[in-house]
Amino acid sequence: MAAQETDEHKYVYDFSEGNKDLKDLLGGKGANLAEMTNLGLPVPPGFTITTEACQAYLATGREPDGLAGQIEAHLQALEREMGKRLGDPGDPLLVSVRSGAKFSMPGMMETVLNVGLNDQSVVGLAAQAGQNDRFAWDSYRRLIQMFGKTVCEVPGEEFEHALDEIKSAKGTHNDLDLDADDLRGLVDAYKKIFAKHTGRDFPQQPREQLDLAIRAVFESWNAERAVLYRRQERIPADLGTAVNVVTMVFGNLGPDSGTGVAFTRDPGSGAQGIYGDYLANAQGEDVVAGIRNTVPLQELERLDKSSYDELLSIMARLEEHYRDLCDIEFTIERGKLWMLQTRVGKRTAAAAFVIAGQLVDEGLIDEDEALHRVNGAQLAQLMFPRFQLDHEFEAVATGIGASPGAASGKVVFTSARAVELAAEGESVILVRRETNPDDLNGMIAAKGILTSRGGKTSHAAVVARGMGKTCVSGADEIDVNVPAKRFTVAGQTVDEGDVVSIDGTTGKVYLGEVPVMPSEVVQYFEGSLDDEHVDNPLVRAVHRIMTHADGKRRLAVRTNADTGADAARARRFGAEGIGLCRTEHMFLGDRRELVERLILARAEGERDEALAALLPMQRADFEEIFREMDGLPVTVRLIDPPLHEFLPPLEQLAVNVAVAQERGEDVAKEEALLAAVRRMHEENPMLGLRGVRLGLVIPGLFAMQVRAIAEAAVAVVRAGGKACPEIMVPLVGAVQELETVRAEAEKIIAEVVGDSGVEVLIGTMIEVPRAALTAGQIAEAAEFFSFGTNDLTQMGWGFSRDDVEGAFFWRYLELGIFGISPFESIDRDGVGRLVRIAAEEGRAARPGLKLGVCGEHGGDPDSVHFFHEVGLDYVSCSPFRVPVARLEAGRAAVQTDGSDSR
Ligand code: PEP
Ligand code: MG
Repeated sequence: MAAQETDEHKYVYDFSEGNKDLKDLLGGKGANLAEMTNLGLPVPPGFTITTEACQAYLATGREPDGLAGQIEAHLQALEREMGKRLGDPGDPLLVSVRSGAKFSMPGMMETVLNVGLNDQSVVGLAAQAGQNDRFAWDSYRRLIQMFGKTVCEVPGEEFEHALDEIKSAKGTHNDLDLDADDLRGLVDAYKKIFAKHTGRDFPQQPREQLDLAIRAVFESWNAERAVLYRRQERIPADLGTAVNVVTMVFGNLGPDSGTGVAFTRDPGSGAQGIYGDYLANAQGEDVVAGIRNTVPLQELERLDKSSYDELLSIMARLEEHYRDLCDIEFTIERGKLWMLQTRVGKRTAAAAFVIAGQLVDEGLIDEDEALHRVNGAQLAQLMFPRFQLDHEFEAVATGIGASPGAASGKVVFTSARAVELAAEGESVILVRRETNPDDLNGMIAAKGILTSRGGKTSHAAVVARGMGKTCVSGADEIDVNVPAKRFTVAGQTVDEGDVVSIDGTTGKVYLGEVPVMPSEVVQYFEGSLDDEHVDNPLVRAVHRIMTHADGKRRLAVRTNADTGADAARARRFGAEGIGLCRTEHMFLGDRRELVERLILARAEGERDEALAALLPMQRADFEEIFREMDGLPVTVRLIDPPLHEFLPPLEQLAVNVAVAQERGEDVAKEEALLAAVRRMHEENPMLGLRGVRLGLVIPGLFAMQVRAIAEAAVAVVRAGGKACPEIMVPLVGAVQELETVRAEAEKIIAEVVGDSGVEVLIGTMIEVPRAALTAGQIAEAAEFFSFGTNDLTQMGWGFSRDDVEGAFFWRYLELGIFGISPFESIDRDGVGRLVRIAAEEGRAARPGLKLGVCGEHGGDPDSVHFFHEVGLDYVSCSPFRVPVARLEAGRAAVQTDGSDSR
């Protein structure tokens, strides 16, 4: 269709001008409406105002130059195509005005339907609808209600209240019992409410209605709930929304009309088939809001076979075209099917894996693409435990398993209470009749969400799935009474604070706390699945995709493990070595006393005795780990934390001394300890006597550890096993520190190893910014680097890692200084730059230098991609995150287009 033939910037696209790849410009909805239009599917004609127009409006507070004229031109073309004029008194063209950002933000932004209705055109609409006055007045009252609430901020409850009053005067609960006269009366009441709140009459000019509605959609981008949602979903704040102006089609014209939503496969399990909800004689928002109970889509076959068949064939076509699960909104107007929306549908973690596997089988995608279609966060979700059910637990209600997982917690009925209790550390289940966007805070705070109304596509279901949060929706046996803070179910009353358990996979609701059991995916990784489960579709899909990821990835994946048991578990999860064995954990329990002796030693002899007593213990620790890892590399880090961490706290010691003195007991040892604690006190222990500094200050300490490592390796090898120890020195900031430790260690190793064939590498952590910046020098003395990104983040930002997240990160997140804690996901620009510099300069000085990371970031999906990019050899993470790192390392290797699988 012709836009204005001028050189001005193009802000408006007809549906026939766009396509699915223009999501940045046209938003997801607009791009997909265009795609469907071009596929020849029945889409009501319309046009899209671009995200750029929204960005310009939000930046300047006014519509950009040229926009009004372009809208006018597209509107005129639409009017010509439809043979109607917007708001024409005799036969009005009506349009919906719908938001549509690049990423779906369900229910977050605004929609206004029936734009173009006024006191005259409502009569024309009734005539055109076959003298259907009821329909026309119902449409008009919906316009005033939506327009009032959305565009003019009239409180929604006032409209609800007026509707309730009319219904109760009529003695009914059902909107459908209201006749045309009732609805005409309601329009009058709504207009009064509108005038009272806005100080003006409801606008009668159709074009003014349109312009104000478009502006309101632009502004809804910055509504509080939208801002919150974006932060939660990590959607950039500056994208803006597109606005779709679409010819209205009506699902509420009578029993041969209706509206529905559908998925081309089950978004919960991934199973093939047709899934959806249908509501006869209703408009779209009735379904999504879960206001009336829908019927399963299959019912449509009975109600309107030809529309049903057409819908099925369109769904098959869309799946083939998008090569993925699609979700769809449609309306049937008097037996004619219209497609109102499609997009690649959101799905649960399990469905993502199962569908990716199916699509490979169906030849629609290849295995690289399948790998691209899933992610580590989903895999992590599948590793959550599930409820362990036996006869003691009987479900009191069954709703729809809307978002999987198992959650138990105290019942709360309001978002505010959910936030309050969660802040006190309680697990809560938010129970509502249905949720709406205002409940977002409570949903974030809750462990799970339970609603008594709404299907798989209700607000609660869609938002919970997006968050990966357990949700049961539409449990209609539950009678929720929010003001009384209770619900009743199966003759029992559940009050606020009582505990319930919900299963987001089966939809079952239990009273009390149900114990949990491990996930099948974890059992698969551990090799403990029984035969019956080995062949289930999810396990098969996970196996296939993980195998492909392992075949593709360049990064090796190691684990952080300090015990034989952890090492063994991590190996079952696929770890290819240990990237960090923290030896300080070996100084706890009954060994603490030896550390105390070491600290209190006055003479060399005393210190040597303590170290000599520790040596065999350490050797045994390392032997166990080497045996478990059976020749895979094991990086053992020499002791890192300040030694006073091993002593009792000052207050406790002071009390002990005082009490013992009071009793006349011998307090020499306690006094000595107390004096040592006082002497060793540090204002900033994380910047104090720790890491390599300990080794340089306390004679014999590192030597004992090095000897234990070397002796353990030799013992394992002499017993016929294999051992590949790598000794890692922590907190190095200058090459001289490392050289000093290295010289001593090399002597001991040479002495111990002899002709055993054991090879011991010596390397360092890079966790102090100075080390990163002098990596070229440090590499001269190191056979490997392992990035300690926890400390590197702490010292790079100057953030105390033990304090800041709880203290003030909320504010930083709120201000958008960062979108996620830099302790969770690597700060690419700052800390990441240090990693990059050190990797480059280290390798320049020593080609082939082995590079890894062992900070928490090693198991974070986004960070794994970064480490792949900068060319590390391996990541190391906690055992449970090893599968996630394997998957993401595979994804990083196949991901060449930088696209987002959100
Ligand atoms: C680090 O600093 O990233 C690291 C792995 O060491 P730790 O967490 O033990 O300080
Ligand atoms: Mg560290």
